[in-house]
Amino acid sequence: MGWTSAKFRVKSGASTQTMEIWIYAQTMGKSLSEASLEILSEARRLANPHKWGVSAVILGDSPGITLDTLAQHGADRVFFVPSERPAAYCPEKVTEILVDLLKAHLPWVLLFPVNDVTNDLAPRIAARMRVGLIPRADRLHLSDDGTLTATRICFQRKIQATVVCPDARPQMATVGSGVMKVQKDTRKDRVPCECIEVNPETCLAGGASRVKVLRFIKADPKKIDISDADLIVCGGKGGGDKAQFEKIKNLADLLGAALAGSRVAVDNGCIGRERQIGQSGKSVSPELMISCGVSGANAHTFGMREAKTVIAINKDKNAPIIKLADLGVVGDLHEILPRLNHRIKKYLDQINPEKR
Ligand SMILES: Cc1cc2nc3c(=O)[nH]c(=O)nc-3n(C[C@H](O)[C@H](O)[C@H](O)COP(=O)(O)OP(=O)(O)OC[C@H]3O[C@@H](n4cnc5c(N)ncnc54)[C@H](O)[C@@H]3O)c2cc1C
Repeated sequence: MGWTSAKFRVKSGASTQTMEIWIYAQTMGKSLSEASLEILSEARRLANPHKWGVSAVILGDSPGITLDTLAQHGADRVFFVPSERPAAYCPEKVTEILVDLLKAHLPWVLLFPVNDVTNDLAPRIAARMRVGLIPRADRLHLSDDGTLTATRICFQRKIQATVVCPDARPQMATVGSGVMKVQKDTRKDRVPCECIEVNPETCLAGGASRVKVLRFIKADPKKIDISDADLIVCGGKGGGDKAQFEKIKNLADLLGAALAGSRVAVDNGCIGRERQIGQSGKSVSPELMISCGVSGANAHTFGMREAKTVIAINKDKNAPIIKLADLGVVGDLHEILPRLNHRIKKYLDQINPEKR
């Protein structure tokens, strides 16, 4: 991959509107996050018919292989902001850096992957730029006049909305992970990607940050909203009465998972109503869901359609949930769970004896 490079002083000048799509890219360890590659590929797809440019902004300790990866997936320019600890997200600093870059270049569209950091960052930037923000888009379209149209599922996944921000620029959206396809840039006529190193001190010339990151505290799975949980253990009528349901609770505790239930489990008093999954409960989208003693009625599965991987334990091999699951375990959960919990506990004790 060919590179050109330049230094960029963000306060130096401005600015006519640039027919460009920008993305905010993030790293996971030493490589780019999958979600960043997804939105970059999508930006390239949207830009191609209009022959627009695509730029990525990335904070990192060294350009490394991430820049090549950005170029291979469609970036024409990369704004690289050296940052010693990109993981220690400081909202004010990053907002300041991005707002200065945006004011200098005025791109037409700006996309973010959805995660905890960007859920905080994107609204700050939208407010500072005085533009709208389309959160959690799952489909994007760029019309000939440059209007970005986004569809998103809202109101507990009961409505699909089509949203535009027709007036102000950049048009901003955050995009859910796993909905766009990662694709390499196959343009024959692409020019070498330009790397522009941004001096973050220049951006922060306005004053010191009021925010100091002291430490990160992991959310308590017992308290987080099940709609936000990445890992869920869900119990149904097969979990039995309140005392028998403890086995399912134990599994959730051991895994650090959020506990949820079917409507029958709620009606039986095994779990609170705010933890019900389904049509009259909540919709969830965990990376992994372990379903115990749930039949998989439509009214229930309606709320778990977005679960990435489902493991189901049910004594009936014909239960709909077993057919839907990625892994179906056919058997009595009151026999399986005590043994499974014992094995998990033993394993956790081995890998981390002090903490337990
Ligand atoms: C308008 C409307 C809205 C609704 N909204 C919701 C909703 O939001 N959420 C929801 O969940 N439901 C909802 N329901 C109810 C839904 O239709 C089902 O009745 C409910 O989901 C069934 O719950 P369940 O799977 O726990 O119980 P069941 O359907 O009775 O299934 C229990 C399962 O446990 C298995 N089992 C039993 N014992 C064991 C054991 N020892 N080991 C392993 N497996 C075992 C059985 O084989 C069975 O498959 C709604 C219904 C209506 C009409």
